Amino acid sequence: MLPDRDPGIEARPPAKLLALHRKRLRQILLIAIAAFAVVALMNLLRERTLFLALNLTLAALLWLGLRWNRHRPLEQVVALLVVVAMTGVSVLGAIDQGLFDEAFIAYPALLLLAGMYGSRHLLVFLTGIMIAFLVLLLLLDQYGILHSVALAPAPTRVITMSMLLMIIAFFVWLLTDDLRHAVQDLETEKRALLDSHARIEVLAQRDSLTGLPNRALALDRLDRMLEMARRERRPVAVMFLDLDNFKTINDSLGHPVGDALLRQVASRLQACVREGDTVARVSGDEFLILLGDFEHEEAISAVVAQIMQALQHSFMLDGLEVGVTASLGITVAPRDGNEIDALLKNADLAMYRAKDSGRATFRFFDPSMNESVLEQMRIGSALRSALARDELQVHYQPEFDLRSGRIVGAEALLRWHSPELGTIGPDRFVPVAERSGLINALGAWVLRQACADAQRWRSEGLGELTVAVNVSPLQFHRDDIERDVVRALGATQLPGANLVLELTESLLMADTLHLEQLLQRVSAAGVRIAIDDFGTGYSNLGYLRRFAVHRLKIDRSFVKRVCASAHDEGLVRAIIELGHCLDLQIVAEGVEEAAMLHKLQGFGCEYGQGLYWSPAVPADQFITLVREHQAMFARGAANVA
Ligand code: C2E
Ligand code: CA
Ligand code: CA
Repeated sequence: MLPDRDPGIEARPPAKLLALHRKRLRQILLIAIAAFAVVALMNLLRERTLFLALNLTLAALLWLGLRWNRHRPLEQVVALLVVVAMTGVSVLGAIDQGLFDEAFIAYPALLLLAGMYGSRHLLVFLTGIMIAFLVLLLLLDQYGILHSVALAPAPTRVITMSMLLMIIAFFVWLLTDDLRHAVQDLETEKRALLDSHARIEVLAQRDSLTGLPNRALALDRLDRMLEMARRERRPVAVMFLDLDNFKTINDSLGHPVGDALLRQVASRLQACVREGDTVARVSGDEFLILLGDFEHEEAISAVVAQIMQALQHSFMLDGLEVGVTASLGITVAPRDGNEIDALLKNADLAMYRAKDSGRATFRFFDPSMNESVLEQMRIGSALRSALARDELQVHYQPEFDLRSGRIVGAEALLRWHSPELGTIGPDRFVPVAERSGLINALGAWVLRQACADAQRWRSEGLGELTVAVNVSPLQFHRDDIERDVVRALGATQLPGANLVLELTESLLMADTLHLEQLLQRVSAAGVRIAIDDFGTGYSNLGYLRRFAVHRLKIDRSFVKRVCASAHDEGLVRAIIELGHCLDLQIVAEGVEEAAMLHKLQGFGCEYGQGLYWSPAVPADQFITLVREHQAMFARGAANVA
């Protein structure tokens, strides 16, 4: 037995399909009526009244079918059509030439019709009836009741046969046309379905902003890479990359610009790795990079170098040139571990190590980093109480005017001696304070202390010395710095002109209007702005003109080699000339020897500080140092006089 169609579908065909079926039935009914009319006409010509009457009756019944087709259920119309056509064809055939009659050519057309628009039951039933009728005709003939007699061939016979063939061809035409359309529709639907499946997969496994794999997909791939690497005894590198100043850019330039930056970073990163490698975005500004398929670990360093270089060029965002740096932590399996969790933790540690070492750099994991996390936690909690317990001190390193040789001010540098942890340098605890959010309180405290000491220098008759205070970029996040400066100056009565703020280049890279205005307001109070560690950051110097900057402090790594390397000598000289062109004062830090001093003097550098004169000393000692220095000058002046 043939399987029946889903009754649910058959009971209620969709409106579009129903309309199509009705249209087809109307066409078929019209064709059938026309066919019976033609046959009726031929019978009229041949004066066969019985056939004529029969034909007209059938045509009339089909006409009724046409009307039914407007409102009645489809099945009734189909049933009427099939019953009328079947009866008509069979009776006309039987009383004309019996088994020899051409009318039976119409049987396949009826089967086609039943198959297209009726149920499977109808099709089977109809086939059975047809065969039974043919058998009946045979029996009637054999028993002499109704003879099947072939008439001599006549044109009417050819006409009828051709007409029937044309009707069948027409049905087949309709059927194949509908089938073709149905297949096409199915194909389109299938494609849409596949598309939406792919989209769902993308949503589940990809980061919607950059199109990169998300964390889940990346971890899945890492799992497979590790599995394969184990079998083939090859290493796999896992890297975390975190953008250093993304938050500043995002907060100041807005999220759409931040998004655009992430997309550009993503595509640059992707260009650095090979096809089998993975670059994934795992959180806000953090990327996970997986490298497999290499024989030696040197290949990892090559990729790392490529990544650092790729981010060195600034990004064009919304018409602005924005620089971004990244800190990269790398761990290698199986050397550093084989488990996903351990590897991720290692890469994360190494990344934070890179951040601690001044950002814009990379670190390979080494086992000692595990200890340093604990140590950092200890530093963090000790630092919290250090502020309250007065363990922190501000020391002062004098700054000299290189032309007159006089002390013109000092840089305030934090010192911490913890009873539990011993002496800890700012290079170690400032990054911890930045990460724990303590930097704002710490920064405000230093500012207040430095202003108070500088005011004391004035009241003790040391003259108008400036005090330079280091400011972390994080202190700019909520405009804390402006409030802290106003408070410190207000509370200590120090004139703004005696205060210098030392900022890092990376802060200005974000190049925002907001920051520009903030620095302008601070400058309006007489406070001066110095760019610290100048030369280590970026090649884009446009910001120097844009921001209210007064001083450049040449990084001590260049000053250190000013006598040893022609390259660094050229660099120092270029920085000094550039600064002068922009009306900026130049401070050289890290001056350790007389030869360095002479070189800098020769280049026209205005100020200097360094071990050549003095390290940073406690506040009281600084006062003594300045007094002695001034006394020496007074003696010198007296001698001259
Ligand atoms: P920096 O701002 O570049 O400070 C200059 C550093 O160079 C100081 O290190 C100073 O002691 C050292 N130095 C001075 N003269 C010489 C020299 O002739 N040779 C050599 N090799 N080094 C010299 P220090 O005090 O360890 O400070 C390290 C860094 O910690 C500072 O670098 C600064 O970035 C940060 N820092 C210090 N105090 C503060 C602070 O109050 N707030 C913030 N945010 N950062 C601070
Ligand atoms: Ca400094
Ligand atoms: Ca510096």
